Amino acid sequence: ATEAEEKDLVIIGGGVAGYVAAIKAAQEGLKVTCIEKRGVLGGTCLNVGCIPSKALLNNSYLYHQILHDTKHRGIEVGDVKLNLEQMMKAKDTSVAGLTKGVEFLFKKNGVEYVKGTGTFTNEHEIKVNLIDGGEQTVRGKNIIIATGSEATPFPGLEIDEKRVITSTGALALEKVPESMIVIGGGIIGLEMGSVWSRLGTKVTVVEFLGQIGGPGMDAEISKSAQKILKKQGMDFKVNTKVMGGDASGDKIKINIEAAKGGKEETLNAEVVLVAIGRRPYTAGLGLENIGLDTDDKGRLVIDSEYRTKIPHIRVIGDCTFGPMLAHKAEEEGVAAVEFIKKGYGHVNYGAIPSVMYTHPEVAWVGQNEQEVKASGVKYNIGTFPFSANSRAKTNMDTDGMVKMIADAETDRILGIHIIGAGAGEMIAEGTLAIEYGASSEDIGRTSHAHPTLSEAFKEAAMATYGKAIHF
Ligand code: FAD
Ligand code: NAD
Repeated sequence: ATEAEEKDLVIIGGGVAGYVAAIKAAQEGLKVTCIEKRGVLGGTCLNVGCIPSKALLNNSYLYHQILHDTKHRGIEVGDVKLNLEQMMKAKDTSVAGLTKGVEFLFKKNGVEYVKGTGTFTNEHEIKVNLIDGGEQTVRGKNIIIATGSEATPFPGLEIDEKRVITSTGALALEKVPESMIVIGGGIIGLEMGSVWSRLGTKVTVVEFLGQIGGPGMDAEISKSAQKILKKQGMDFKVNTKVMGGDASGDKIKINIEAAKGGKEETLNAEVVLVAIGRRPYTAGLGLENIGLDTDDKGRLVIDSEYRTKIPHIRVIGDCTFGPMLAHKAEEEGVAAVEFIKKGYGHVNYGAIPSVMYTHPEVAWVGQNEQEVKASGVKYNIGTFPFSANSRAKTNMDTDGMVKMIADAETDRILGIHIIGAGAGEMIAEGTLAIEYGASSEDIGRTSHAHPTLSEAFKEAAMATYGKAIHF
């Protein structure tokens, strides 16, 4: 093994959290090494998460639209055929371009990139089992753990990524299954369920809670999303618990029961997607060698400056607290480096947007109505439907609405919830508004270009403190 010089910062994990921290640290003049075992940078997000899923969502949407949404627009198409292999290749091309881009940014900024699995040997030293064989020891004055997360398995259903799949298998199926059961109606279940439903699979989503999209989604918006996705052909069983499954036969059997208890029922499908959440990944890190523990959910425990109880070892991204989102991981990468370099840093956890990239998209920031109600604060709500928005009408894509929640006394915006085409882009304005402590009137009196979907955003704001013009 070769002994290395001590770096200012060593980062374990080259996902969004780790690679952003590495680039930021290099920009701040720190000598930095990033260790990644995948052989490719970008982590879950670029390789098997955000990016490949959006490639398939975009292209499956186009396919579905060409099949079902062209004639009344005056477009007549001939034989439309799916070439799944090419759709997968297009996805792989996007992924490869972006991961190579990160490697280029490492070179440009002078980040040392070590390919292998890192294991702590002591509080300043990490042994790397190199992908190409051999070992290397890396020493860091500061260390950031950014090892991410993995799919939570379902007890009794062994994942083979062909018939019983996680999101990773769902991004790489070689043929369109005739039927699919999705266990868990969270974001992964709905995004990947949408992809395969559009390509022709009969998709049934089984969700334990009374609503789809996870508990963060506003209940009214979730109801609307469920109705629209159902219209597109997806089936839902909410308030329903998956009890177990059996993949030994030709078809996979899934036993379900009403969440509150009741009669058992059995569903059959060719493929089962397990999408019941993700859990922090810290296996192989050698935490026991430095006396670090995880909590009952497998998360590494940190303080408000991302420090573990060993102050020069920090943790960011999916393997610690907070929403498992790439942009959250990214903010933490920057803030953790700022703490190391300058002694201060900041992430506003009240202003992290969430987006579900179905069609229509669902996006939100701040509190949902259930949360505001529970907090006891008096509030006003303004809504505006896209069916009254000129651009949505010309696009013939009018499903959904904007819903704004503001404090009744101060008019300060507490939460913004959008379901509609382009919601994921539009929510950036809402995030900025919350970050700046805007009132609904601030937005309602700001000029928005005509004709754009974002006029619905302005009008929802107007409806919060007064009245919308067009509805
Ligand atoms: P990761 O991206 O998981 O990166 C951790 C890296 O550490 C991995 O590459 C791993 O190989 C490496 N590693 C682990 N242990 C070691 C070790 N001992 N030594 C060396 N390397 C190690 N989020 C969004 O915001 N928007 C989306 O649209 C979105 N879509 C998603 C779709 C899917 C299907 C999935 C699964 C997730 C999606 N996410 C999305 C979530 C997003 O991918 C994660 O929040 C994000 O990747 C977290 O970044 P991270 O750097 O903390 O962890
Ligand atoms: P999730 O936590 O969002 O949803 C899991 C769902 O499964 C929940 O609604 C839960 O009630 C349900 N569930 C759990 N056990 C069940 C059972 N036995 N029977 C029926 N339902 C059950 O998790 P996910 O969708 O797997 O996503 C994992 C993470 O990845 C999330 O943190 C998510 O934010 C992130 N992600 C984000 C995006 C995005 O930002 N667009 C996309 C994909 C994934």
